[in-house]
Amino acid sequence: MDLGIEGKWALVCAASKGLGKGCAAALVREGVNVVVTARGDDALQATAAELRALNPAVQVIAVAGDITTDAGRAAALAACPQPGQVDILVNNAGGPPPGDFRDWDREAWIRAIDANMLTPIALIKATVDGMAARGYGRVVNITSAAVKAPIDILGLSNGARSGLTGFVAGLARQPRLAARNVTINALLPGPFDTDRLRTTLAGAAQKSGQSIDAVAAARRQQNPSGRFGTAEEFGAFCAFLCSVHAGYMTGQNLLLDGGAYPGTF
Ligand code: NAD
Repeated sequence: MDLGIEGKWALVCAASKGLGKGCAAALVREGVNVVVTARGDDALQATAAELRALNPAVQVIAVAGDITTDAGRAAALAACPQPGQVDILVNNAGGPPPGDFRDWDREAWIRAIDANMLTPIALIKATVDGMAARGYGRVVNITSAAVKAPIDILGLSNGARSGLTGFVAGLARQPRLAARNVTINALLPGPFDTDRLRTTLAGAAQKSGQSIDAVAAARRQQNPSGRFGTAEEFGAFCAFLCSVHAGYMTGQNLLLDGGAYPGTF
């Protein structure tokens, strides 16, 4: 299927590894030019080189910086050839740490809300009106399955990401966006095989005294699919959401979790 997005420009945040990288790779394969960001320059440059090799016809611009800061966002937006002219925005950043809410002070909450709610909102604000003026825009927010089924120890994530989800539910339905072919949707990952998941598994292994392999095998078995998702399949789904074919779906939260969520809807 031709996704119809060749030549467009995407800003893919937090994309040197994991799910963000999977999204950038899938878009590059479709001929989309990308600005990719991450904090660490070495991993980012290596990823940018991989992306260029996937499709030498596209432009890949790497911008090192913390996307949760004003300076990081300004640098990412300025890197597009027409500053701020983004056709596709993939919002992503590292997730907040696990813990007990009794230990979280105001600063911990502000950090989580900044990273996982206010940063995507700021980037949406900087880009969607331009998308609407040009008559094409796709925003994909990478959130978490925890938005639909909260995970006890990830209270910061449950809270901050649900705030984003509630805000976007209203914004996506504004006719000045929806009627101008601008969609805003969220992808809710369950367990995907990335560095983030491996860190979580290592923590669980240390706590339980089991090996990482044993913890990982048990986690795979708990999932109806019997496995973790891959960044490639996450990216392919994201690319479809960004395509010309997905223009009639907006304000939706799409769970990619191998069937882990037990509800009918
Ligand atoms: P990852 O650790 O594999 O990759 C994270 C990427 O984000 C890296 O490229 C890192 O450099 C970049 N990054 C992190 N913080 C950044 C910042 N402030 N500014 C710029 N770049 C930043 O993680 P992942 O598994 O790809 O997860 C992506 C998001 O999805 C996270 O928010 C995570 O909490 C969420 N999530 C992941 C899973 C999973 O199973 N992998 C499940 C649910 C939710």
